[in-house]
Amino acid sequence: MRLVLVGPPGAGKGTQAVRLAERLDVPHISTGDLFRANLSQETPLGLEAKRYMDAGELVTDEVTVGMVRERLAEDDAAKGFILDGFPRTVAQADSLAAILDASGSSLDAVVSLEVPQEQLIKRLLGRGRADDTEAVIRRRQEVYQEETAPLLEHYSDVLVTIDAVGEVEEITERVLNKLDAG
Ligand code: AMP
Repeated sequence: MRLVLVGPPGAGKGTQAVRLAERLDVPHISTGDLFRANLSQETPLGLEAKRYMDAGELVTDEVTVGMVRERLAEDDAAKGFILDGFPRTVAQADSLAAILDASGSSLDAVVSLEVPQEQLIKRLLGRGRADDTEAVIRRRQEVYQEETAPLLEHYSDVLVTIDAVGEVEEITERVLNKLDAG
């Protein structure tokens, strides 16, 4: 199964992606995690990404798409994947389509996790990540609205919408049921 998870910061993408990857037996590919791993190893890519991450801005499409292309070329991604945090722009979505098309594949579904705005901020402030200060959170929300929300329209053919308020386990089941993959 080739899946993309979308949703605003704080919607629980990372939590659900880990659980879904396990249930569907496919790798979980999080661009945020890949950037943080590069950052902790102080690679050139990590240092390049840091200034964007610290500000709540998107890392350039060129850097991000290059990183995803390499990750998707690894053996484990041949059987499918769950992308978490990518694509975040329509341009990234077009690049992803081209990458998949080159190997004769395409996305099976794009899962949109829906959570009311007021709950998002509460969740994020409780998470305590380095880039979870109030100003940076606010900027990430703006960037989501401007750059990422248009993906919902872009992917309307394959979009699966999930009410992502409730217990973690319950939300995972909702996704699997809707994908008919329980
Ligand atoms: P996340 O863990 O998904 O919240 O991502 C943390 C940060 O990594 C974001 O605020 C961006 O700076 C960067 N990032 C993650 N994914 C992407 C992406 N697809 N495109 C550009 N920047 C990204």
